[in-house]
Amino acid sequence: MFESLSQRLSGVLDSLRGQGRLTEDQINSAARELRMALLEADVALPVIKGFVDAVKAKALGAEITQSLTPGQAFLRLVQQTLTDTLGGEVVPLNLRAQPPAILLMAGLQGAGKTTTVGKLAKLLKEREKKSVLVVSCDVYRPAAIEQLRIVAGQVGVEFFPSEVGQSPQAIARAAVEQAKKTYADVLIVDTAGRTTVDEDMMVELAGLHAALDPVETLFVVDAMTGQDAAKTARAFADRVPLTGVVLTKADGDSRGGAALSVRQVTGAPIKYIGVGEKSDKLEVFHPDRIAARILG
Ligand code: GDP
Repeated sequence: MFESLSQRLSGVLDSLRGQGRLTEDQINSAARELRMALLEADVALPVIKGFVDAVKAKALGAEITQSLTPGQAFLRLVQQTLTDTLGGEVVPLNLRAQPPAILLMAGLQGAGKTTTVGKLAKLLKEREKKSVLVVSCDVYRPAAIEQLRIVAGQVGVEFFPSEVGQSPQAIARAAVEQAKKTYADVLIVDTAGRTTVDEDMMVELAGLHAALDPVETLFVVDAMTGQDAAKTARAFADRVPLTGVVLTKADGDSRGGAALSVRQVTGAPIKYIGVGEKSDKLEVFHPDRIAARILG
């Protein structure tokens, strides 16, 4: 998304060298370029406004050190603000709970929930040496339950069977009992998603949240959905207290707009990014690295 931002900024700023500070005119020109770049990256409009205003406020009165051109100075401010907006620090998964630590997955159908359950289970099992139980509460699609069974088998974690016709909350409660009985450290609960935000889905999700009291409620969102990612994020964040975000399909998204929007809209830290379909394609989200990468 920001691939050309460095060039754009040198274009408008570096012709005006020699001052110790950026002038208001310079900042306004640079802010225009920044706004365009964010628009092209499909960042949600209200997020763009807040972001550009924050950069402008910092740029006004900022000293430009001798070694930097005005373009570099502005770019550095953008990078810092971008890192801050993306959360600043890495926020690890929270497993601090009386076992089993319950992770509830939420998101639209096709966002990558089931795939992410597999990736997380693998990561927790292999890196954290946790015993993991997974369960699907998608009572509408037998194929979804079967998909999770297969994924669990592939990564070698326990799968708690569920059936269409059971109530999602009854499945979830039974899975918690099973996790306790088998001394599982972590229980990951996959949920049903619809293709668009819908009231029934939200009611069901809120009910599951209340029944499970999870230590993490992770919103899974497809990075490639751009502006829509922000709208979906708002709809979920309004109904359940999200504790983290997993941004999937980041491998197919060169623009990066969804990361910025979703973080801003939900206020929840992005904890992981999905970078491929395979079970090992999950990376910890580093705000500074992502900021540097998207700035190019
Ligand atoms: P769910 O309906 O939310 O459970 O979504 P699925 O887990 O079934 O994923 C939907 C599709 O997205 C599948 O084809 C996955 O292989 C694919 N997918 C999920 N995560 C990623 C990712 O990080 N990168 C890529 N390229 N594909 C992904």
